[in-house]
Amino acid sequence: MSIVPLRREPRLLRSTQTAESVAELREIIGPWKRRSKSVAMVPTMGALHAGHLSLVDRARRLADRVVVSIFVNPLQFNDPKDFDRYPRDLDADISLLASRGVDLVYLPTPEIMYPPGFRTLVQVDQLTDTLCGRSRPGHFDGVTTVVTKLFTQVAPDMAIFGEKDFQQLQVIRRLTRDLDLPVEVIGAPTVREHDGLALSSRNLLLSPEQRAIAPALFRALRSCRDVIVAGRDVTEATGTATEELLSAGFDRVDYLSLVDGDTLAPVTSFTPARAHRLAAAAILEPVRLIDNLAV
Ligand code: AMP
Repeated sequence: MSIVPLRREPRLLRSTQTAESVAELREIIGPWKRRSKSVAMVPTMGALHAGHLSLVDRARRLADRVVVSIFVNPLQFNDPKDFDRYPRDLDADISLLASRGVDLVYLPTPEIMYPPGFRTLVQVDQLTDTLCGRSRPGHFDGVTTVVTKLFTQVAPDMAIFGEKDFQQLQVIRRLTRDLDLPVEVIGAPTVREHDGLALSSRNLLLSPEQRAIAPALFRALRSCRDVIVAGRDVTEATGTATEELLSAGFDRVDYLSLVDGDTLAPVTSFTPARAHRLAAAAILEPVRLIDNLAV
């Protein structure tokens, strides 16, 4: 009797490619599409951390090909100083993505995304009137415009977004439904530091003292959620949590609210049968941190 060795398919190692223009992008993606490969996309603004990489890993599991875009989108920054100080580290980002088996990193320039004469804005209303939309006028128009462009450029079958930016996720779901964009929008859970702080590129901008204060945001949300679920009055509970943030050392609390999980409309009494979200934005000057929890 002879032993036939198990024949394994050689694992095809593909290298990570980069594209900077729509033409280059389509030259790479076109052949994938013709061979019916499924494509998952993860839009980012770079300065990548483990939260971004969790979305990339999810994309890798779901699709044959993974495209990550890195574009610090000027249109979504209502404050030009915030845009200037936003962390950027392209070389580190590309090596991280290569190590995660990403097939294509799309790096458009502002000129490619918004060529001279660009006059189109994509706007989702209502969902963008609350929470971050109130204090960041125009922010979500910038997000929905750039995501619509990225979706039409890359034509992914699915796109992964983090629940860390819960309002953004809901706005993009609405946008995709309303415009019949053939992209499945998938939400992924928030990745946190050991002390509960949600990972964010903006955490890099915190001083050591601010970094020590920052986890109070998650703690306040968690205890607020627990007392709401236990039956405490919602306005009282969110008021107490806001006070906790200020006494922990936050400079300002932009909002700390319970909202409907679908419409994002404010909710003043908790109904266990409905999905709610407890969301907050708080400032450690000049850094604005956001976080949210399912209730
Ligand atoms: P950004 O680069 O901040 O625009 O984020 C790109 C994507 O990563 C968005 O879908 C974010 O919601 C997601 N993301 C950012 N931080 C986290 C995190 N801590 N956990 C999970 N996803 C995240």
